[in-house]
Amino acid sequence: MLAHASARPTGRGRPASRHAGALGALMILALLATAASARDVILLIGDGMGFNHVAAGRAYCVGTEGALVMEQIERHGQVSTHAANAAVTDSAASATALATGVKSYNGAIAVAMDGSNLETILEIAKAKGMATGLVSTARITHATPAAFGAHEASRNSEVQIAQDLVRDSQPDVMLGGGSQFFGGALLEEAAQAGYEVITTADELGVATAGATETSKTLGLFSAGYMTYEFDRSDASSEPHLSEMVASALDMLSVHPNGFFLMVEAGRIDHGAHANHLQRTVLEVEAFDAAIEVVQNWTREGSARQADTLVLITADHETGGLSIQNPDDTLVAGEFVRPGWSSTGHTAADVPIWGFGPGSEAVQAQMDNIDIFPIMLDAMSTEPGTAVSLVGKHLTTFGALKRPEATR
Ligand SMILES: [Zn+2]
Repeated sequence: MLAHASARPTGRGRPASRHAGALGALMILALLATAASARDVILLIGDGMGFNHVAAGRAYCVGTEGALVMEQIERHGQVSTHAANAAVTDSAASATALATGVKSYNGAIAVAMDGSNLETILEIAKAKGMATGLVSTARITHATPAAFGAHEASRNSEVQIAQDLVRDSQPDVMLGGGSQFFGGALLEEAAQAGYEVITTADELGVATAGATETSKTLGLFSAGYMTYEFDRSDASSEPHLSEMVASALDMLSVHPNGFFLMVEAGRIDHGAHANHLQRTVLEVEAFDAAIEVVQNWTREGSARQADTLVLITADHETGGLSIQNPDDTLVAGEFVRPGWSSTGHTAADVPIWGFGPGSEAVQAQMDNIDIFPIMLDAMSTEPGTAVSLVGKHLTTFGALKRPEATR
């Protein structure tokens, strides 16, 4: 592994004492656990997907009286999303909370309020010998995937985030957009690190069919964000989110020690920032299709697949979306009449659904830092230990209020 050019500390080897105490101890327990105990864990994040984005997607996909795949999952609740020092979070702070169980400032990529690196669930999985994967329809260097595989003071440091991904966290599978941040020299490093670099859906199919335990795949399907589903032509060479997820599952499940996979539907947020209902809804539809792929995979495969923890949530709500069709119900193919109160994020709570072992810890009202211990627990030899922290987020949040946090 190549060393960092800068003096920034990496996530590895950081003393556990820099975490909130209980979580740090639990992480050591998790790291001591044998790889054989690891369960597959899949976290799916609809970026910017509030409850009404789901409802608008429901109306379009299956009509007012229907239900999306995600809505039919039995265990569910709602999640508060505030950042450590802001009522309204950005994707970086929320992804840091999901990936590390610690709240930080808006813009933070898996670093704490004091700037120290926070070990991520992806890094913990890798240290346990599990395979790891990141899938996003945004740039793979964008805030949400970045907070699982990089450590940067600013989400805008996407060149450095690309380096962190290739040099340090090295997920076995990375699929998304953002090739503009992977220069020729870095792609050469990626190849030397064992990555096959691919750029089209066809190449993804070939790479998936040929995947072995030692394969590493870096799929960069666009220079920036991947194209909105609403704007794609049939001739597009970009894979759909559901295709990326199916490939990631095929590639990661070759590994005998289990895997962690994060999937982001990154463009729900962008459609909502633009207050563009149709773009937003078609991204929700694509996310639901990806969830169906995951659900079918857990049902149709081996006992190990059935033993997979799947959590589905959002990082925050975007647009303050309301639904304003007063007089009629809608049938599939119709769009709701939207009301938008913002072109930014809001502090509205977001949904969570879960199935598989450990998902019983999903509660009616949670905070985003409660999700990390559920995933940690699923990877642990001592199930029930980490998950006892769920719902006690005031304790861990309070631990963040150190003097340097007030600057
Ligand atoms: Zn956003």
